[in-house]
Formats: sequence, structure tokens, C-alpha cells
Amino acid sequence: MAMAPDDNDQPNAEAEQAFLKQLRQTFDQMPREIPLYLFVGRGQDDVFVQACRQVVRAFRQLTSKITIKEYYLDHELAAKWGVESSPTLLIDPEHYNIRWMGAPMGEEGRSFLEAMILIGAGKSGMSEQSHAVVKQIDTPRQVKVFVSPTCPYCPQQVVNGLRAAIERPDLIALEIVDIQSRPDLADQYSAQSVPQAFANDVLIGQGAQQEEVFMSSLLKLEPQTIFIPESTAEMVEVDLLVVGGGPAGLTAGIYAERSGLKTAVIERDTLGGQVALTPVVENYPGFTQVGGKTLVDIMVTHALQYVNIFQGEQVLDITPGEPIEVNTTRRKFRTKTILLATGATHKNLGAAGEKQFSGRGVSYCATCDGPLFKGRKVFMVGGGNSAVTEALHLFNMGVSVTLVHRRDKLRAQDVLAQQLEYNGIPILWNTEVKEIKGDERVKKVVLYDNQTHETAEADADGVFIAIGYQPSVELARKIGIELNAEGYIKHDSAHRTNIPGIYSAGDVEGGYKQIVTATGQGAAAAMTIFEDMINPYWKRSKASHGMNNVAGTMPNTGLQHEATRN
Ligand code: NAP
Repeated sequence: MAMAPDDNDQPNAEAEQAFLKQLRQTFDQMPREIPLYLFVGRGQDDVFVQACRQVVRAFRQLTSKITIKEYYLDHELAAKWGVESSPTLLIDPEHYNIRWMGAPMGEEGRSFLEAMILIGAGKSGMSEQSHAVVKQIDTPRQVKVFVSPTCPYCPQQVVNGLRAAIERPDLIALEIVDIQSRPDLADQYSAQSVPQAFANDVLIGQGAQQEEVFMSSLLKLEPQTIFIPESTAEMVEVDLLVVGGGPAGLTAGIYAERSGLKTAVIERDTLGGQVALTPVVENYPGFTQVGGKTLVDIMVTHALQYVNIFQGEQVLDITPGEPIEVNTTRRKFRTKTILLATGATHKNLGAAGEKQFSGRGVSYCATCDGPLFKGRKVFMVGGGNSAVTEALHLFNMGVSVTLVHRRDKLRAQDVLAQQLEYNGIPILWNTEVKEIKGDERVKKVVLYDNQTHETAEADADGVFIAIGYQPSVELARKIGIELNAEGYIKHDSAHRTNIPGIYSAGDVEGGYKQIVTATGQGAAAAMTIFEDMINPYWKRSKASHGMNNVAGTMPNTGLQHEATRN
């Protein structure tokens, strides 16, 4: 039974009329026509086709700027624009490559309205930062955004796709796929949740992304979680330049900026260093269990509140002095101090075939490559925390993994070793991988038992190597920083190196190499740097400095306030 209108309907109806009036005015002021082409299959007048017609006609009533033409799928225009499924809606196909597969119903009505407004305006309306990212795209991108009419987050992701396709019609094509209308495509892409965005068949975003994050995922063809604005400055002057964006460097950035030091963090590769590649972290206080990449994202987001981060930029050379001059692959820095938090890189095994099959079955990162080995047989080489953590991660992903360790006892913590046993992960003790064999990809490993001296071949789809790290000290070595016998940076208890104004923190110093120790060292080094700036250490105790000091004094910074420890 129909409800009688009550008094509350009056204001609603008025608001609706006002909204429609506003919309009509908006469309009337638009500079461009909005031609829509609806393609339907003969005899396929289903609920999606009817809904699609209804929506576009409703919009058509608002403005003469929108024109609608409807064709069957066997029409030559369908062939011209490669339309194969019903219903498909093309939006201004002479200028853009934007298609809706399904009907813009429910929440998708919002996306459709946004599409009409952007096309009518002929502008993407993206932010300047997004524009700077999208400008760098130089090869085609075929974007698919999977949506559903009941998903309130989907319109945001659709609008991201629309902005990209309108900004770069030369290279970016967009398909908005309604998973109800195209369950076949949803299955093919395993898009079981919406929104999901793919570019060139690579998943670039799960859930709605911030516009700039979407654009940088589209540029890099991998899902990004954080957007770091690019700097165009050719020269940057700071009090402290932190080289390395792992836990030590990021923490130092936070502490230094909070002390009042103008600081920049520079990272040539992945922010977070080794942690970003660690599957699960279970010993960072405050988090019983957290993905390494998640922990890094939290740290980076925190650091970005204080400090400028220059990612994807490599330090080429450092010239000590007052100021210290630094050349990177992108620009120059002038800084009063430097903190080397360059971390460590994975060690190679040195087995025959390791180099040849690297990236073709040989991997140093279970988090990155593990999913490719689901249901397959791999060997994990190593007996430390990394090898065991990564073996467990592979096991949990459904990879058939065997640990290969050169001794009869693991170096890894007991709690991890017990999990190996609990999960029944086999361990080959006293065994060394001597050779990795295959053709296009890894097929076999040659295993050597160092007790019996027997050699055997085993079938393998992959070999993961986690046998520790070596410090990244190329820069340090180049400028004459002293290293210890193991090749780590030699430093005093307050993280000063032998060169005035240059400090170190984190894995590059050796020691325990835990995330929590790296963050602690980063904080301590930043506090030392601050204290040395207001009371130059090298002037203060040149004579008593126990290390092989290079003559020099710290610059007068003009900082007068007391050192602070909070
Ligand atoms: P690691 O502790 O140095 O262990 C390296 C392992 O690889 C050792 O078992 C070692 O054998 C083996 N190995 C070294 N060279 C080899 C070679 N040429 N051939 C075969 N095996 C070789 O390195 P990691 O496991 O990468 O860990 C590095 C640091 O990060 C450590 O301080 C570790 O505690 C820390 N980390 C901590 C966690 C955590 O707390 N959850 C997770 C990952 C890493 P031997 O035992 O015979 O020397």
C-alpha cells in the first residue's frame, strides 16, 4: 500500500528540485558536448540494459549537452571501438577511451554524474601532484576498475580512473566493470572484493585509493600505499641529511626535525629497507604481529609529518667540509651534518647457477616472490631468523618448502625454530646447496651433505636464499670512513664516525640488527647530532676523542637552545 505523503516530504522535494536546478545550470555552463553510445546485444534486453537506458535518459533530461545513441553489438561502430559485451556504454569515444561495462546503478550513479561533469568540462580536475605523476607515464595503460552498485567506496576509485583517462587520453584507457553484470571478468581477475583496480592486468589498487596514490600506482604498475610528493628543487640546504630510509633513518628524521634541525631523508630504493621485505614482524613493541610493509607504511606516514623524504634518489658522492656537499642522481644538497643509515644488502650464496637463475627461480625475497611458488617445491637456504621467518611465510602461502642449513643447529630464535617443527617443515641439516640447475627456470638443486660428503640432486621449482646481510658501505668507504674488521662502520658510543659531521646508525653499524635497535640508534644519533650542533663535539674534545679523528670543526649553527630528550 502506498504511504500517504507526510509533511517531511515537502522539504525533501524542494531540496531535490533545487539540486536538479543546480545540476542543469552546471551542465548548461559546460563548454563541451557529452556524446554517449550505448551498445546492447540483440534480444538481450535484460535488467542491466534497461537500467543503463534509464540512467542515461535521466541524465539526458537534465541537459541537451548529453546525446545518446544506441546500437546493437553487430553494428560497425561496435567493431570500430572493440565493444563486445552488453550493455557497454562509451563516453565520448571520439576523444576518450572510457567505457562502462554494466549499468551505472546505485552508488555508481555518483561516479556517472562525476564522469558527465568531467567530460563536459573537458578537464580531469586532478591535483597538481597527480598531474606531475601522470605526466611521466610514457607507455599505454589499460585500466580496469571493478565496482558494484552497493559499494560506497567504488565511486572514489572510478573517479581516479576517470581523471587519469581524461588527463592522458593518448595513453590511458579506462573500463569500469560492474561485477554483477560481468561476473566472468570478475572471476578472470579474481576480483572478489570491490573496488579493485588493474592496469595492464596488474593489480594496482585494492579498495579506494587517495588520488595521488592511485596515480603513482598507475605509473609504477604496482600498488602504492603512500604518496611522497616529488621535489623539483635543484639545490636543497639542510642541517642534517639522512642517507637511508629504513627504520634508523626514518626515526632519525623524526627526532632531528622535532629538535629543530632542518632535515631531509634520502632513499635510493624501497623505504623501510629490509623490513619492507619481511613477511611478518612479531617483536616490535606495540604490535603482536604486523606485516613488514605495513609497519614501514606506518613509520613513513609518521616521518612524513615532520621530514622531507626524497625517494628513488641515489647519493653519488659526498664531499666533507663546511658545508658538506652531496650530489645525488637528481640534485645537490648542502648540509651541515650527515647520518649514514644505509643498512645492509642480502648476501649471495655463491653457488653455481645462482646468478644465472636469479629472478628465474632464485629469489632473495619470499614476501615478493612467494605467491609465484604456491603449490610448488622450493628450498630455503639459511638457518637464521630471516630464513626461518621466510620459510614459515612460504609454508603459510601453500608453498612446499624445505629448509637447507649448513650446520646441525639453527641460529634463529627458539620461538621461530619451534614453529618450523610445529608445522612439519622439513630441514636438511649439514647440507649445502652447491649448484642450481635448470633451463629457462630452476629445475634442480645439487645438495652436498658436509658430514657424509655425499652429493644428491633434488627437483626444485625455486631456491630462496636468506643467509644474512652485508653492510652497504660503498659511500662510507669512498669518503674515508673507518670500518671495523667485519666491514661495518666504526663509530663511537654516540654514533660519531671518524669524520666530523658524519654519523651512522642502524644495520650499517653491525650489532643486533633488529628493527627496534635500528630505531633506537636512529633516535640516539639524531640527539647526538643536535647536541653536537649546539656544542660542537669535535671542537670540545678533539684531543680526547678516542677515534682516529680527521681534523675539523663543526659549523656554528646558531642553535642556542638546550638539548632535549623528548
Ligand atoms: P644471520 O642471522 O646472519 O643468519 C645467516 C644464516 O645463514 C646463518 O644460519 C648462517 O649459517 C647461514 N649462512 C651464512 N652464510 C652462508 C653460506 N655461504 N652458505 C650457507 N649458509 C650460510 O642472518 P639473517 O637471518 O638474515 O638475519 C640478519 C639479522 O636480522 C640478524 O641479526 C637477525 O636476528 C635479524 N632478523 C631478525 C628477525 C626477527 O627478529 N624476527 C627476522 C629477520 C632477521 P651459520 O648459522 O652456520 O652461520
